[in-house]
Order: sequence, then structure tokens, then C-alpha cells
Amino acid sequence: MEYVSTRGGRGVDLGTAVRRGLAPDGGLYLPRSIPPLSADFWAALPGRDLVATAKGMLAPFLSPLPPESQERVIRAALDFPLPLVELEPGIYLLELFHGPTLAFKDVGARFLARLLAELRVPAGRALPLTVLVATSGDTGSAVAQAFLGVSGTRVAVLYPAGKVSALQEKQFATLGENVQALRIAGTFDDCQQLVKQALADPDLLAQLDLTSANSINVGRLLPQMVYYAQAVSQLPRGSESPVFATPSGNFGNLTAGILAARLGLPCRGFVAATNCNDVVPQYLESGRFVPRPSRPTLSSAMDVGHPSNFDRLLALFGGAHPAMRAEIRGSAHDDAATLEAIRRVDRERGYLLDPHTAVGYLGLRVALAADPGPGIVLATAHPAKFREHLEPQLGRSIPLPNRLAACLELPSLALPLPADFTAFKQFLLTWTD
Ligand SMILES: *Cc1c(COP(=O)(O)O)cnc(C)c1O
Repeated sequence: MEYVSTRGGRGVDLGTAVRRGLAPDGGLYLPRSIPPLSADFWAALPGRDLVATAKGMLAPFLSPLPPESQERVIRAALDFPLPLVELEPGIYLLELFHGPTLAFKDVGARFLARLLAELRVPAGRALPLTVLVATSGDTGSAVAQAFLGVSGTRVAVLYPAGKVSALQEKQFATLGENVQALRIAGTFDDCQQLVKQALADPDLLAQLDLTSANSINVGRLLPQMVYYAQAVSQLPRGSESPVFATPSGNFGNLTAGILAARLGLPCRGFVAATNCNDVVPQYLESGRFVPRPSRPTLSSAMDVGHPSNFDRLLALFGGAHPAMRAEIRGSAHDDAATLEAIRRVDRERGYLLDPHTAVGYLGLRVALAADPGPGIVLATAHPAKFREHLEPQLGRSIPLPNRLAACLELPSLALPLPADFTAFKQFLLTWTD
């Protein structure tokens, strides 16, 4: 399979697309074509196991990798449960938060980590793949956890000192092994700048095998298709096709759903559910895409004013607003409505929604009022991740899952560095693990 930039031009192979992340013209990579899978493949979905479904859906896109190597990536990435829970009659939650950092980003990050390791040529090369990631909190832990212990790779996680929560910091700074946290005396922008500068530095590029694992990488998008199918496979036998509601920020998750639909996934459409950062619902309404600065909300991972995957979505619909609108319904919900939904579902169903999932739930309710039938909300995070915000609102404490509670007890192994490129470069050139 070739990958082409959303801005056109010549295609590249999987390895190039995944190593580059962003295309040189500034566009995002998409597969050149998305050949639908057979009706037989989809008819056999309900009884099939996750790995077999993933192999069938991903094989066309991983073509240069031998099948055994594809299977290693798939097994390592999708190694936690993805249960479908019925919340109310006909309303289901696909729980994507049973991975190491309790959020759906674990799936994409783990897949990308293993993919980069498998694509390393020649295998067994002396030089490890050095992955740089700047984080303001959550991405760092998903990426660090994803690469932890993956041979031939090592990760430097740069984060702004004092600007990430204690729990977030513990999640990536206590790991050790091939993960080095760097506590930068500066802002998140400084961290990003250091990573950018390193990836463009001729000395470093000559001496190290450097890459970044940012969220726009097509290698993170591909595996996310699989859980949409995994959700459908768990619906009761004989169910009608579902509507999917995807809590969205940068719209990677929703883009993956559209890709799955192109492969033939049975579904009645999608809901692009956002908080008040609603440039995509606005676009669906008006046909005009007007990015604007983001505003802080309770569902902070969706506070995005210029969603990076919008160009991918647009490309998948050939730039046509009516086509996108026929498949995706926009739905925006403010913090007051989100909190109200969290409280009501907690009271009536005994299920605690995280704020992101709650936005998806609200979007699904609106969609089902117009189009009755089964609906699935992608539950993108565990509520305990946001307990600092939720506890005061709910007036009770939310227990941390054991795994997270355990890392709070461990010492931080972060190395302090000034926000200065010379110091960072010196660290990279002398880094031995
Ligand atoms: C990142 C994130 C989202 C948004 O996903 P996109 O793919 O950026 O749209 C939603 N919920 C949670 C919990 C997230 O971490």
C-alpha cells in the first residue's frame, strides 16, 4: 500500500510514512486507496476473535511487512480487553480505557511503537531508534508506556517542569529502562521547540537514528479502525447496525471510524461529539471551516481549536461538505450539560462516565432521537484519570485503579534540563542506557 499526503504528490511506502509522521509538504498521510473487505468477512465478524479481525482489516495497509511481523505488532498493541457495555437499552459504551494509561490513545501508541520496531532495517542494527516526544501531560505517558521494553528503541519524554499533574508525571517519569523523562525548565512550547530543533539538526541526524511519535502519524490511526469492528462484533445477535458517537478533539479517532466504514464496517453513521470547541460541528452545519483558539473545558483532551485531522476527513470525502454531512452528524455540548449527564448516569445507572465519554453520550442521545436504533459511544478514558475535576463536582472520592496507584509510590527518574538546545543536544549525544 502506498501512502499519499492530503496535499497530493507522489506516494511513499509504509516505512517512510510512519518514520516521517508528517509529509514534507506539511500534509498528513492517508492510504492511497481503501479497498472494501468482502461481505463474507463482515458476515463472519460476530464470532471471530479480535486478532483475526485486526489481521483482516490491517493486512492491506501493512503489506510490506511479512504476516508474522504484522501479527506481532497486532498482538502487542491490542493486548487488553475492549468490552462493550450496555448502559441503557440500545446505548452501549465501548470501553477503550483498559490499557496501561487508561485511555484509548494506548492503542495507537502501542501499535506505532511496535510498527517502528518491526520496520527498523536492518533488524538488529547497533544504533537504537531514538524517539523524542514533547508532552503537556497525557501523550507522554501513552508513548512512554508503548515503547517501554521494546527492544531496539528508546524514548526521551520532554515535559515542562511544574506544568503537568503529579499523576501524569509519575506515569512516565518512574518507568526507567529505555524511557528517559526530561524535566525541562520551561513551557510545553519550549519542549516542542527542542524536539523540532533536534529533528532538524544535521549533527544529531548523522549520529543518531531519530524520530518523533506524534499523534498525526498514520501508524496510530490504522489500529483504531479495529475497535470499531470489535464493538459491532459484541452487539447482540441480530442487532441492527449501530450509530457511533466519537468524543473528538483532533479527530483522529473519528477518522479511523470513517476508514473502517470504507472497509465495509456495518454502521448507520457517526456523531462528531465535541465540547464547546466545536469547529467541526460548525463546519458540518455551515460548510465553513473556521479554526479558532481553543477554550479550556472539563474534557480537556478535546480542547482543540484547529483539529489536525480535519484535512484527512476532508480528503476522505473528496472535499465535499454534503458527502461528509451525510455520514457524520455534529454535536457540541458545554461543561454544564456534560456534568449534568455524568451526575444523572451515575445516579440512574451506577456508571461513572469520564467527561470526554459523557460528551459522546450526549451526542449519541441527540442522534438517536432522530434516528432510533442501537448506538455505541467510544468511552475514551477511565473516569479516575480526571478525578481531580470530578471529585469536587460529585462530592465523593473516585478510587484510582491499582496500577496507577502503584506508580504514585515510585520515585521520579526524570533528569532536569534547562530549556536550552545545546544542553539537550549534549544529553542526546552522550545518552547511553
Ligand atoms: C485524545 C482524546 C480524545 C480526542 O481524540 P481525537 O482522536 O483527538 O479526536 C478524546 N478523549 C480522550 C480521553 C482523549 O485522550
